[in-house]
Amino acid sequence: SEQCRQSMQIENSLCDYDAVETINREMRKQLEVLVRQKFFKFYKVNLYESCPFWTENHLCMNKDCGVAVIDESAIPEEWRSAALGAISSPKNGFNFQPFKSCQLKDQDFCQVDDEAVSEGVYVDLMQNPERFTGYSGPSAAKVWDAIYNENCFNIAKRMQLETDCEQCSLDRQANEEMLADKLKSAATAGVSMARNPLTVASSLSEPFNPLTAGTHQDEELCLEKRVFYRMISGLHASISIHICDEHFNQTSGVWGPNLECFVSRVGAHPDRLENIFFDYAILVRAVTKLSGYLKNYEFCTGHPEEDAQVKAMVDRLIETSMKSPAIFDEKAMFVGPEAQALKLQFRDHFRNITKIMDCVGCEKCRLWGKVQTSGLGTALKVLFSYNDEHLNPVNNPNLLQRTEIVALFNTFNRLSESVESITKFREMYMQQYGSN
Ligand code: FAD
Repeated sequence: SEQCRQSMQIENSLCDYDAVETINREMRKQLEVLVRQKFFKFYKVNLYESCPFWTENHLCMNKDCGVAVIDESAIPEEWRSAALGAISSPKNGFNFQPFKSCQLKDQDFCQVDDEAVSEGVYVDLMQNPERFTGYSGPSAAKVWDAIYNENCFNIAKRMQLETDCEQCSLDRQANEEMLADKLKSAATAGVSMARNPLTVASSLSEPFNPLTAGTHQDEELCLEKRVFYRMISGLHASISIHICDEHFNQTSGVWGPNLECFVSRVGAHPDRLENIFFDYAILVRAVTKLSGYLKNYEFCTGHPEEDAQVKAMVDRLIETSMKSPAIFDEKAMFVGPEAQALKLQFRDHFRNITKIMDCVGCEKCRLWGKVQTSGLGTALKVLFSYNDEHLNPVNNPNLLQRTEIVALFNTFNRLSESVESITKFREMYMQQYGSN
């Protein structure tokens, strides 16, 4: 169908991975410094909401699962609950109300934790790095399953969601089987990807479309479903990379990269590698689309000099992102006759994923799960809820909350780290196993 053809365009436009890795080296340095700034490292989040989907929840008791929260006195005065209620007059000529109370609006793809709500806690993201925590087993598996089940949406079969979901898990199984076949035939041809999974360029030059691989295809919906799946799978793979990159060796008691972990969870799965680049492309596009909005945005911490520096950093980062070849063309999505209904489903299912984060039984994992689903949700909101003339902070000062901007850039930073880690692991692999 026309939409499938367009989806190939979207997916093929992501093939220049070497170029992405090159531009990412520049981006990395800029993002690394940016997320250390006050505006970007302090995040208000509600970590203690109960899981809305099931009751028994196993909590991870490892000390690495814990989150260090900070006292409100450590954060800029402008952001504290008392001050938030007091903000009412325009600042610098703009009607600037970054912390205005906000409900779940139609445009939102995720539950936005409102900074003005006192239930949330402030965390310093720098002090709580996303890394190996030991959280695993049935609790983690159940959360991932629930997340992937959100991929099951279908306008035509709205009333048969259960059947559709069963079909989706069959699709998933079929994808895994197809991948296994692919690896087997590559091995027969003498290019054992299982032994040499890190030849990223060759494994990625042929886009793998997870949702066309199954037996069940809904032609009309293939693009959106695939995009949804790839976003989740990319996030999952990126989280796995962070776990493997900052891994705790229980025998030696030392933290460090674990090549075996990387190969088995991500490196041996070309589709997962691809999906990381896919998420990266979505974030690059969202940041690029937001360029005008961010140029006029006030990064307010109460320290004008620091705020000016942050603004300059964001400007530089946008310039760099504009050089990136990873262009995601959002205009190819939601164009068919069911476009509006499909968009609502896509949004609702993504919102559910952000709610599933409350079911994650490890606080630190929940924190980063929330940051990153919120970051991707913000990207989707920017790409699909607004056109360029809406994206103007002077006319539309309340379009994005500070937490959304913080989540967007921190998610971008995490994806950028993953892209860098792929390069690092590839080098480790080559050193250990040579070019065979
Ligand atoms: P899992 O990663 O749990 O994967 C389950 C199954 O999903 C796999 O068997 C495979 O079939 C499939 N799968 C795996 N990756 C992909 C992919 N990219 N695309 C498609 N399918 C895939 N642990 C930490 O140590 N630190 C963290 O910060 C952390 N954060 C987490 C955040 C969330 C939201 C969740 C749900 C879990 C988190 N975990 C974290 C746990 C971690 O993700 C794993 O669940 C855990 O390490 C067990 O891994 P596993 O090898 O059993 O497979």
